[in-house]
Amino acid sequence: MQSLLAETAARASRYLAETQTRRVAAAPEAVAALSRFDQPLQPGPVAPEVVLEELDTFVAPATMAISGPRFFGFVIGGALPAALSASWLTSTWDQNNVLYNVTPGTSHLETIALRWVLDLLGLPAECGAGFTTGTTAAHVTALAAARHQLLTDVGWDVEGDGLFGAPPVTVVVSEETHPTLRKALGVIGFGRNRVVRVPVDGQGRMRADRFPSISGPTIVCVQAGNVNTGACDPIAEVTDLAHDSGAWVHVDGAFGLWARVAPTRAYLVDGLERADSWATDGHKWLNVPYDSGLAIVRNGEALRAAMAITAEYLPPTSGLRDPGDFTIELSRRARGVEIWAALRSLGRSGLTEIVERNCRQARRFAEGLAAAGFEILNEVVLNQVLVSFGDPAVTRDAIRRLQLDGTCWCGETVWQGRAAMRISVSSWATTDADVEVSLDAMIRTGHEARAAATGGGEAGPA
Ligand SMILES: *Cc1c(COP(=O)(O)O)cnc(C)c1O
Repeated sequence: MQSLLAETAARASRYLAETQTRRVAAAPEAVAALSRFDQPLQPGPVAPEVVLEELDTFVAPATMAISGPRFFGFVIGGALPAALSASWLTSTWDQNNVLYNVTPGTSHLETIALRWVLDLLGLPAECGAGFTTGTTAAHVTALAAARHQLLTDVGWDVEGDGLFGAPPVTVVVSEETHPTLRKALGVIGFGRNRVVRVPVDGQGRMRADRFPSISGPTIVCVQAGNVNTGACDPIAEVTDLAHDSGAWVHVDGAFGLWARVAPTRAYLVDGLERADSWATDGHKWLNVPYDSGLAIVRNGEALRAAMAITAEYLPPTSGLRDPGDFTIELSRRARGVEIWAALRSLGRSGLTEIVERNCRQARRFAEGLAAAGFEILNEVVLNQVLVSFGDPAVTRDAIRRLQLDGTCWCGETVWQGRAAMRISVSSWATTDADVEVSLDAMIRTGHEARAAATGGGEAGPA
């Protein structure tokens, strides 16, 4: 075991070092070579050293360098050194984080991680929370708590009797709600489409002046951090309107919630603490490995009522928090340890520095691209930049050229009818030098795409 783990560490360090210089996207040859894995399961065992060698030799080159400093494709960050080592160690411990009594070390750290997160985000200390696989699962978890509370209030036992014949629950979302929230609404029986949609402004923010009049059991979903623009709904205003009618307010803050820790950005999520539930990710701006999210609920008892189970063989720990009472899963890994490790290593100031730095870097991308003659389609208020290189075909060609160039990696989107390249800055590892070299590549490939479209010498789009 010892030499295997030492070899694993050596290979992992080499991989991380290579992400500094390698092309960000997987090499096409490496992707083609994956076909070597297309074989039936062999009859007998293979030595773990051989398994490791196969993974490192043939899968590592076919990965996207997401843990490196120049991946700007999605808002998903990298993995902080302390979080990565915590992940290794926690996997080694193989704790099934359900009952405090059975797995005390990791259960204890989960309680501390939660306390720190609530403190950082300025949320009430008495909130309950489940450590989920991500924000999608956090939506399901938190909305199940909302469903429990709202239907209990009108005398309906939704856990026992389900939704057939239940009093209706109105769900209010915006036109720019993230698709995972709609999926969560479908999963828990509210329906993806059985919603009231509030129009948004040019940045994708819910328009409070178009907020509907509501009555009866209602859940209002607001967003901190639009996945394209980074814009945040007017949370304080909408929460007040919702609470005037007794509605439950749920916040999708997968990455945007963390604006709270950045003094210059906190205004974006003003009033956050007045909501009733929050879904966020550890694996985005907190820079811990996947899968890691949090479902936080002001009324922790509603969350426990929706999620806890009992069994003779699972005696609860008296007086202490049993992690399994707050999540969909029973057996699961102790993912709270990675959040604890990330926060322990960063401290408050370290996390603030990452969020502030990434926001400043996003503005630098926007300034540099605008100065080079390309159009920025959003107000760069957080970590997101949308850029158009010209007409849709030119923009798509510029993105393709950038991805092939390999200096950095950005994806595409369509924002309010316009094709755009999407730049998301959310990694602890991204330095200002990474931004400059990436900006140069974006400008170079953007000009190449323009020249190709106007027949300016270079070969046209392939
Ligand atoms: C990423 C994201 C989600 C989904 O989170 P997962 O962790 O991928 O499940 C939901 N909402 C927003 C705004 C996001 O950015």
